[in-house]
Amino acid sequence: MKVEIIKCLEDNFSYILINEANRNCCVVDPGEADPIINYLQKNKLNLKYILNTHHHHDHVGGNEELKKKFNAEVIGYIGDKNRIPQIDICLSDGDIWKKDIFEAKIYHVPGHTIGHICFHFFKNKLIFTGDTLFSMGCGRIFEGSYEQMYNSLQVLKNLDKDTKIYCGHEYTLKNSEFCLSQDSNNNELLNKIREIKEKIKQGKTSMPSTIGEELNCNIFLKSNDLENFKKLRDLKDNF
Ligand code: ZN
Ligand code: FE
Repeated sequence: MKVEIIKCLEDNFSYILINEANRNCCVVDPGEADPIINYLQKNKLNLKYILNTHHHHDHVGGNEELKKKFNAEVIGYIGDKNRIPQIDICLSDGDIWKKDIFEAKIYHVPGHTIGHICFHFFKNKLIFTGDTLFSMGCGRIFEGSYEQMYNSLQVLKNLDKDTKIYCGHEYTLKNSEFCLSQDSNNNELLNKIREIKEKIKQGKTSMPSTIGEELNCNIFLKSNDLENFKKLRDLKDNF
């Protein structure tokens, strides 16, 4: 399975997951349809599945057009079946979703929204974290509680360290400034910032990260108690 990173809207990432043997593919969080359609047509791919991490418009904005054009199925969290446009397949925490070569375990990770999920492609050792875990940050708490978000991050912390992370936004450098303000002597953080700046200079994105790198650099993952996490989240909201 090949992963293509597609930039959407202002700073969103969508991802196209490709079975190179039969040209079938999935898209994760199509915030808009056009950049996805362009890529699919240029590369002669058949879109079969649309995977949504949560219902926010910048993650589902392309659902309707893509479904209509390619006759693809929309997959999302059962609790959000009334707010994910065009949903066909409803998943619950712990489910394994499997079609073609694509196989993901679903983690319900409330906090940013109460219906947020992550798709863990465990055989490929990669996870799509949407707006729950960013590189060097975590999502704002819009609907859930601090405790829910904290617990959701603990689930992700327990994945193998070499698991690749693909998140919903290019916030990495901005996030790193906050990490640095809290953790200025962290050499791993300083190294990662250098690497990311180099990648972006070359026209690449900061994706993917890994769980191991985030455990070393992401101040929200380094936080080991809820009170401290709350404090950090509030500070970041006003940073
Ligand atoms: Zn969101
Ligand atoms: Fe978002």
